[in-house]
Amino acid sequence: MSSPANNESTVSQHAFAYQPQPINGEFLGKHIISVDQFERRDLDILFDAATSIRKRIRSHDRGLTELCAGKVMASLFFEASTRTDMSFQSAMRRLGGDVIAVSNGVRFSSMYKGENLSDTIRATGCYADVIVLRHPEIGSSYEAGYYLDLLNTRIDNPTVAISGGDGIGEHPTQALLDIFTIYDRKKSLDNLTITLVGDLKHGRTVHSLAKLIAYYDAKNVRLCLVAPESLAMPSEISDLVKGHGIAVIETEDLVDVIAQTDVIYWTRIQEERFADPDIYETIKDRFIMTPRVFAKARSNAILMHPLPRKHEMGTRVDHDILDDDPRAIYFEQMENGMFVRMALLVKVLRGVYV
Ligand code: ASP
Repeated sequence: MSSPANNESTVSQHAFAYQPQPINGEFLGKHIISVDQFERRDLDILFDAATSIRKRIRSHDRGLTELCAGKVMASLFFEASTRTDMSFQSAMRRLGGDVIAVSNGVRFSSMYKGENLSDTIRATGCYADVIVLRHPEIGSSYEAGYYLDLLNTRIDNPTVAISGGDGIGEHPTQALLDIFTIYDRKKSLDNLTITLVGDLKHGRTVHSLAKLIAYYDAKNVRLCLVAPESLAMPSEISDLVKGHGIAVIETEDLVDVIAQTDVIYWTRIQEERFADPDIYETIKDRFIMTPRVFAKARSNAILMHPLPRKHEMGTRVDHDILDDDPRAIYFEQMENGMFVRMALLVKVLRGVYV
């Protein structure tokens, strides 16, 4: 996608000073911008709601469509997305709400006439109860939170922002569905060894997930970070995790840790984030998950991936073989994304989920 017409930085100084409100057990009306807003009890509340919603979907409970009836969600995606965009849209529809988006996509929004993000966000806020925003710049969702707070003092119908990923920064709702999936499969985070593999520098999902694992405050967790040195997890995140008493093992060799791992979280090398395509070429084949590699993992390990996947999961044949392995749960993880996003929408738009 080409850039908006003004080609200037989207994010003002306000974004950098803006602190989204902590959830503190109460989601109603709060923007969801960073996992830093969450602590364990908030996650537990969300896990309960997602589990209950999943059960209600499975039993074809029609009452679900009353939960967000009359509410409108705007989908504002300035970067490519399949899962985040569609799962939010599906979530809102299953809750009885409506979804709006710029006709023919954001390429036809006024940002491509030179409008800045803060005005586009406020315009959208005049029409929607919730805006899901994905944007390539770090801080864009903070910009949205700041300007929506201003707008909300002036209009009848306040609007919340939910980040759908801001550049290489964070992807909070992905991390929420990831940690829910781990919890759901393992029934607890205590005593787990969780291994994140691949592009830990540019991968916003792993940034958010590492922090959430720390905030969950489980007992005896080990976090293994497997990446080439040039794609290592930013030190502020690994230090934060260590500060929560989690043992962090950083290595460039998966073999060091795979046999002790309970949760393997594989990621794509983020080609679109490399300024120099030659550097991407030298590094892109560094970690490739194949059935042979997976054979070294424990019999009760789980393999996750935020998707999309490319060659970092081998060939198409490798994909098929891995997909057949019951330990490979990325499609269940994807479905959980819809349940968690439904839970979140109900919580921020309606408050208590019953
Ligand atoms: N879908 C995820 C994201 O938007 C992961 C990826 O693109 O590799 O960050």
